[in-house]
Amino acid sequence: MTTLLYTHEACLAHDPGPHHPESPARLKSVLDALAQPAFAKLTRREAPPATLEQIALIHPGDFAQRLLAAVPQQGYAAIDADTVLSPRSGDAALRAVGACIAAVDAVVAGAAQNAFCAVRPPGHHAEPRHAMGFCLFNNVAIAAVHARRVHGIARVAVIDFDVHHGNGTQAAFERDADLFYASTHQMPLYPGTGAPTERGVGNIVNVPLRPMSGSEEFRKAFANIILPALAGFRPELVIISAGFDAHRDDPLAQLMLVEADYAWCTERLVEIAGKHASGRIVSSLEGGYDLDALAASAAAHVAALMAA
Ligand SMILES: [Zn+2]
Repeated sequence: MTTLLYTHEACLAHDPGPHHPESPARLKSVLDALAQPAFAKLTRREAPPATLEQIALIHPGDFAQRLLAAVPQQGYAAIDADTVLSPRSGDAALRAVGACIAAVDAVVAGAAQNAFCAVRPPGHHAEPRHAMGFCLFNNVAIAAVHARRVHGIARVAVIDFDVHHGNGTQAAFERDADLFYASTHQMPLYPGTGAPTERGVGNIVNVPLRPMSGSEEFRKAFANIILPALAGFRPELVIISAGFDAHRDDPLAQLMLVEADYAWCTERLVEIAGKHASGRIVSSLEGGYDLDALAASAAAHVAALMAA
């Protein structure tokens, strides 16, 4: 079985402005790393655009139409101080969601064991009614609900090791016992959510980590709390919010992870997916703002998916 790699040129063209950390260079560094000979066996696919009906699985009413209408013909349009649109942002956002949906379709159909979506904008901060934190649509949450709606997958888990809490995914999932969300994240840090007391209907697991926590604290959080809870949920599909900004070289946070931690964590998720989900994993890029650390970490993550 193979690992699929989804991306699209539009995801390189989304431009939140000069000096913005969520730069096109991020995705270029990931794609350059995955162009190395070690990744020759990846099956590469172009991400299709999501439909408005698919976006509406999470974002209600005319949310998608209003966001797309705000995309400027030229220059920039700011949703908030962090979240900025450029002329190709609408296309990029639709392709980022479309990548995750196509990856779910392919993995559920058995066309591949797992998939990595090298996309931007990221998605985990996007709440059902609120784009924020560099995120426009919640790529992974939409893919999770799509898996259930279209493929009848009974239980879908999202595991989020981005250094920031995925407030948007939590908001989308917290009243639905057949969806599971678990996150390690630095606290205190943007967006401020993610306390252990935020438990949804028993389907949310938050493990905040103090600044300067490193490999040991991260691995303990997974081994002692998140992985047992995930196994207890018995996911039929595992989706990963793969942000790499907990790396020690990242400029936006102060956790001290290294590439090997991402490989270790991915291997553990592969084990649980193998036991409960026929190995089905869809991973999507979230944050990661040091270009070299991002490239090396994403490569370690994808290599672990390929070894599944
Ligand atoms: Zn992040």
